[in-house]
Amino acid sequence: MKNQDFIDRDLDVLWHPCTQMKDHEFLPMIPIKKGKGIYLEDFEGNRYLDAISSWWVNLFGHSNDYINSKIKEQLDTLEHVILAGFTHEQVVRLSERLIKLTPKNLTRCFFADNGSSGVEVALKMSFHYHKNRGEVKPYFISLKNSYHGETLGALAVGDVELYKEIYNEIMIKTLQVAVPKDSSPQSVIQPLLELEELLKNRSHEIAGFILEPMVQCAGSMHMYHSDYLKGARKLTEKYGVHLIADEVATGFGRTGKMFASEHAEISPDFMILSKGLTGGYLALSTVLMTDKIYQEFYCDYNLQKSFLHSHSYTGNALACSAGNATLDIFENDKIIDSIQAKIRYFAQEIEKFKTLSNVKEVRQTGMIIAIELKGYSSEERIGLKIYQYALNKGVLLRPLGHIIYFMPPLIISNQEIDKMVDVAFQGISQIIN
Ligand code: PMP
Repeated sequence: MKNQDFIDRDLDVLWHPCTQMKDHEFLPMIPIKKGKGIYLEDFEGNRYLDAISSWWVNLFGHSNDYINSKIKEQLDTLEHVILAGFTHEQVVRLSERLIKLTPKNLTRCFFADNGSSGVEVALKMSFHYHKNRGEVKPYFISLKNSYHGETLGALAVGDVELYKEIYNEIMIKTLQVAVPKDSSPQSVIQPLLELEELLKNRSHEIAGFILEPMVQCAGSMHMYHSDYLKGARKLTEKYGVHLIADEVATGFGRTGKMFASEHAEISPDFMILSKGLTGGYLALSTVLMTDKIYQEFYCDYNLQKSFLHSHSYTGNALACSAGNATLDIFENDKIIDSIQAKIRYFAQEIEKFKTLSNVKEVRQTGMIIAIELKGYSSEERIGLKIYQYALNKGVLLRPLGHIIYFMPPLIISNQEIDKMVDVAFQGISQIIN
């Protein structure tokens, strides 16, 4: 089998995500035959270093022997069972472990099957909680430049115009507040004043405030200081509005701590987890919430007060076994400790981007690194040029417009960091006019 066989068959029958399919008239699709470690391999033996963890999901490499073995074990035991009225070992163990690992006020898990549906669960539950208490609060606050997924509710609380604008007429009610403009502690002051002003005037109609702690990933890998989270936690508490931490992308070590909320030592009312939750293997998400929220739904038979939300694959047993295997690796290999040296190494290696005349800024939070270019119009599709350049050199980068970023699997070695950084450096250098 050659790459071309799959390309032709694919283009006859598929419609790919986040893709203008016509681009594939000039941009070759890449059929992947297998993956091992941080490399993907096509049908002609070309290898690609997965610098973006296959959309930020993969933590411990593709086809990881340990996770494979745990899923295989589970496959011969139980693949899936309805989670209403039934339970299973993997989902119970995973919930117990997540509750121990996450901030202290989070005491219960509600499962769904992808990041966006986790966001929907948190939004609905937050609104419903207030309604159960006799208050109708139809608004949600989110940060400018935020991204929370693509289903309608998740899209509505996001603020990336590119994804959202076209659907404006069918969005739920949201209010966007300023995000700190950079990672400095001073830049949190004004946005917190603005947040307080809004809460003072309108908290009676606002159910919750959803944010991506520390890094707005799809929003150009924009990074801000943890003091903003501390301030937002205090203010939401003061004004009776839920704080919803969307850790779909930032969770599981990406920012250098297990969860990004830990940078500010805050405990949100809801925390949404997905992506790394299964090590990048299977679709799963979970929403953790406080006991206070849970208790508001706990009552004698009353359909209005009950949270009647479900997805067919909620708490899938194979996905939960991948989740438990992932947490085993975090524990056994002391991953959070071991990535600290890599984070420092990364910091050294990316210094050189600052010498390039077409680089505006280099940002880093833990294992997330962004290089922002300057001087290009969106029509130039500079990100696409870098993407193609890097692919030819065996590195999978997927720039966000003019932002070139790295979010590799946590097991990446220093040598592999060098390769990834060198290819990006050459790619960015060769487009300087
Ligand atoms: N929230 C954040 C912060 C995300 O980055 C994403 C996905 N990139 C989502 C939610 C949505 O997750 P999913 O793509 O699994 O629906």
